[in-house]
Amino acid sequence: MKDYYQILGVSKDASSEEIKKAYYKLAHKYHPDRGGDEKKFKEINEAYQVLSDKEKRAQYDKFGRVFEGAEPGFDFSWAWGRPGEEFDFDFGDLGEMVEEIFGFGAPRRKRDLKKGKDIEIDLEIPLEDTLKGKEKEITLAKYVLCSRCQGTGAEPGTPINECFSCRGTGEVQQIKKTFFGSFTRYTTCPECGGEGYRPEKPCNVCKGEGRVRGEERIKIFIPAGVDTNQVIKIDGKGEAGRKGGRSGDLYVRIFVKPHSIFKRKGDDLYILAPISFSRAALGDEIEIPTLEGKKILLKVPAGTQSGKILRISGKGIPHFSGYGRGNLYVELIIKTPKKLTKKQKELLEKLKLEGI
Ligand SMILES: [Zn+2]
Ligand SMILES: [Zn+2]
Repeated sequence: MKDYYQILGVSKDASSEEIKKAYYKLAHKYHPDRGGDEKKFKEINEAYQVLSDKEKRAQYDKFGRVFEGAEPGFDFSWAWGRPGEEFDFDFGDLGEMVEEIFGFGAPRRKRDLKKGKDIEIDLEIPLEDTLKGKEKEITLAKYVLCSRCQGTGAEPGTPINECFSCRGTGEVQQIKKTFFGSFTRYTTCPECGGEGYRPEKPCNVCKGEGRVRGEERIKIFIPAGVDTNQVIKIDGKGEAGRKGGRSGDLYVRIFVKPHSIFKRKGDDLYILAPISFSRAALGDEIEIPTLEGKKILLKVPAGTQSGKILRISGKGIPHFSGYGRGNLYVELIIKTPKKLTKKQKELLEKLKLEGI
């Protein structure tokens, strides 16, 4: 096996910058055009091809070689199968293995087994709360950090020892014999569950879990202009992780309650405004409530028909972007009186004679 690091004269933990520098220096020195050693030059190039490529370098570090030539549609069952041998891995497993060996896809991330679950909740808010940013406090029942051991899972004052099986790495080697030869594969240590350590005496309260069922008061900032089905993510406020692992996140799905008089459409508000026939016919000013509570005067032009919609600019819901607001639309409904006084009746009779 060729030692690419030795060929380039760099250490195993050399940065990509150091590798690049070493390569340029050596390539310059051994370039055949300058009378250098061609074999050596090829070797330097080969080493650089591998070590300058993040994926290939990782493969090389792990397996001591780089596997090239795996094409899309490559038949892995053939690659992994030996006659009469049963496969003991599922597709998720296979995907991971393919990634490891052939450097496909994203670099393999160590699965975070200790991370707490994400929590999703619904939060109902009144329409008025969308006018300004508002903070709400809720109480959430969930796994919380064990206060006795602070998540370590160890009884206070007792040591946490390195796992004997994996020597603290959290992974154990598994050798897989295949058509291509033997590959070393790393899996989560079954002894310590990937933690790499084990408390000598588990915590009395959480039994070594590092978390307990409990409640947490959480402040949620609801931004202005928020609408139903928008989700607010609060990092780290989901379930506490196991044994000091990362907490999950909290996802708050907003539900804006319907309002008794305002109807929301996007960032615009709609309201129905009853108006008497005479005021609509003659033109007038009428008072319109706003979501803020303060009434404003709306000018109704003479001869306004029932169903006419008038706009009041900028009195709707603030845009989520933070700039500007929607409008308030007022739909005028002309009321026909159901009961009339004697005088009203007389006057209407006169109007009728006038053709109105
Ligand atoms: Zn504990
Ligand atoms: Zn272990």
